[in-house]
Amino acid sequence: MKKKIAIIGAGIAGLTFANLIKKNSNHEFMLYEKQESLSLDEGYGIQLSINSIKILNIIGFKKINKEKIFNPKGIDFYDIKNNKICDLDLTQFNNDQSKYTTLQRSTLIEFLKDDVYTQHLRFGKKIKEVSELKGKVLIKFEDNTNDLVDIVVAADGIFSNTRSFFEKKKNEPKFKKAIAIRAILQSRSKLNIDEEKISLMLGKNCHLVFYPVNKNKELNLVSIVRDNKYDPDNIKLLIDKIVSQNSNLKDFFTGDLKSWPLYFTPEIIPSTNNKVFYIGDAFNGFLPTLAQGAGQSIESAYELFNLIKEDKADIQNAYFQERLKRAKLVRKRSNLNFFVFHFSSSIMQFLRNFFMKFLIKRKSFISSYLGSVYKN
Ligand SMILES: Cc1cc2nc3c(=O)[nH]c(=O)nc-3n(C[C@H](O)[C@H](O)[C@H](O)COP(=O)(O)OP(=O)(O)OC[C@H]3O[C@@H](n4cnc5c(N)ncnc54)[C@H](O)[C@@H]3O)c2cc1C
Repeated sequence: MKKKIAIIGAGIAGLTFANLIKKNSNHEFMLYEKQESLSLDEGYGIQLSINSIKILNIIGFKKINKEKIFNPKGIDFYDIKNNKICDLDLTQFNNDQSKYTTLQRSTLIEFLKDDVYTQHLRFGKKIKEVSELKGKVLIKFEDNTNDLVDIVVAADGIFSNTRSFFEKKKNEPKFKKAIAIRAILQSRSKLNIDEEKISLMLGKNCHLVFYPVNKNKELNLVSIVRDNKYDPDNIKLLIDKIVSQNSNLKDFFTGDLKSWPLYFTPEIIPSTNNKVFYIGDAFNGFLPTLAQGAGQSIESAYELFNLIKEDKADIQNAYFQERLKRAKLVRKRSNLNFFVFHFSSSIMQFLRNFFMKFLIKRKSFISSYLGSVYKN
């Protein structure tokens, strides 16, 4: 039966869901975004493993300009002094149709917005009130417009405001006591890395990730530094923590630096309303240490889309059970990576490096640790 759907939030999750509905069903939908425009922050890179590329292909990702994306061959792991520890071959997970891909977030958003922008996207929309009316949900917005829908898909990020309208139990995101700093790379002269790959440098209470985001090999650098508090006006102290371990890294932290605190969702809680679904970070916010946030946003959109398309009974329970299983798997690995990437003791670092060298060459380990995430 044809349904009317309101999608709240035009990030990666909401836009992916909108594309799936638009291209593969006859349901009616509207995307409501609180900002006045889409955030097209150029420098911010995204890694997408094949579990998400496979889904994006269904909505035409293959037609994307190939100059604007990159397919890294692998991941090189280094210590903070740029000495190589080991490497992982990413091509082992690729197939003809889907390849591990890196790109700028803006490139992905541009692609996702194309077919829904004019007819299905409304900006400056904040929910004021919700109520049930004749078996449907009536959403009133702050600008005095409203919509009566069969289904609400909340895709409004880790701090989901939609939750507060439908759920009694709070699930406030928690600060992980770590901060992300993004830098645009000015010079690479003091860096000894393979630019065809993703490079991870593991330091004391910090790690750095470098990767190309397009065929020009523009490099994205994100550093994660552990610290008990976040003061946006004082990120120099955090940078000092990195640079004191390798002065060659100093040159990378000049110019336009952006920083943000890392949050995670402490619990995975089901929706208490049969007509309301949470996708992407609104369902669960992951730590970035497995690079699966965007990928899981895309997956959750696809899982929900399939259940709605097939008009299954008890969609709410089916969606939650499937998503819970995936989210737990990804969360466990993201949390473990976060822990082992940041050892401060040199003995622990030595042991970690030893085990990484050993395990990364074990096919059975890699296929269970990463294959289960990438090949869903
Ligand atoms: C340092 C760092 C690095 C990362 N790197 C990667 C990576 O390499 N690979 C990867 O897969 N993921 C990565 N991620 C995670 C990824 O960016 C997110 O998980 C993903 O963007 C979440 O998408 P979303 O659509 O659920 O939420 P969001 O991107 O947060 O989008 C939510 C949208 O909803 C809108 N909104 C919010 N509130 C309301 C409201 N009340 N009403 C209407 N609209 C609203 C917002 O304006 C926004 O447009 C990284 C994250 C961090 C912090």
